Amino acid sequence: MKNAKLAKSYRIDDGKHFRLKDFDPADIGHWHSEDAAREKLQEDIARMADLQDKLYAQDRWSVLLIFQAMDAAGKDGTIKHVMSGVNPEGVQVHSFKAPSEAELQHDFLWRTTVPLPERGHIGIFNRSYYEEVLVVRVHPKLLENERIPSSLVTKNIWEERYEDISCFERHLERNGTVIRKFFLHLSKKEQKRRFLARLETPDKNWKFSADDIRERECWDDYQQAYEQMIRHTTTKNAPWYVVPADNKWFTHLVVAAAIVETLEDMELAYPEVDAAKSKELEVARKLLLKK
Ligand code: ATP
Ligand code: MG
Repeated sequence: MKNAKLAKSYRIDDGKHFRLKDFDPADIGHWHSEDAAREKLQEDIARMADLQDKLYAQDRWSVLLIFQAMDAAGKDGTIKHVMSGVNPEGVQVHSFKAPSEAELQHDFLWRTTVPLPERGHIGIFNRSYYEEVLVVRVHPKLLENERIPSSLVTKNIWEERYEDISCFERHLERNGTVIRKFFLHLSKKEQKRRFLARLETPDKNWKFSADDIRERECWDDYQQAYEQMIRHTTTKNAPWYVVPADNKWFTHLVVAAAIVETLEDMELAYPEVDAAKSKELEVARKLLLKK
């Protein structure tokens, strides 16, 4: 129950009335400190490992977790911490970069289909097809690289993309993929602090990219694009979570709780042993005992 409550406050059930400004990036719920939350996070990580084992054994459903955020919001760290307890064999992570020449020869969903999780697996998209209504919307010049026939590029293109993405996700749901989407909601002030840390700490220098500073200049456009995206693409079966991201420990807590809640709702179980299988096991046991 505790899980359901913690994650539920950040799940967007009603897209129509969603406003990003109603969500505080510095929110930490009633958890006053990282120390207080540590035990809960460890419990959820352990629970996740247990449920993932069943998901894998059952080999019917798959789970797709999508992460989107501004730079330095902590996507990578969240994936690393939250998934730290699960069997790596059952998890597939894919990071989407700017599309290659070959990928630009296809529709924008094409490159996202092959890395989808197999049955029994958890797939993680670090960025996703949602970039097509985020970075591409903020920088419409990128659309030109996509070589879409010009008569098809109208003022409705973003609405059309929301619709196409929602239909694609419904198709996946209908085939056994359970989808959850996480927007790590960082404040502009905290991003500045993290960028400065990247510049001033030698071990963090490698994370710094001059592009990130340029994207920061478009902060307000991005926030609007995120708001529109969530309004149009949150659904009952594939909801967005707006996860406060100014405190990394709280981000991890909410994401872990949301994943555990999702897996618990799936009523996963180890495959049942039928009479024939039972007999096979008994024969094998006898054979082993003989020698
Ligand atoms: P991250 O910033 O996620 O930690 P990174 O720094 O390792 O990852 P980047 O080189 O920043 O990797 O790659 C991600 C970049 O690719 C982002 O700037 C993102 O906006 C861009 N990108 C992803 N998908 C698309 C797309 N469909 N069209 C254009 N640009 C895209
Ligand atoms: Mg980057």
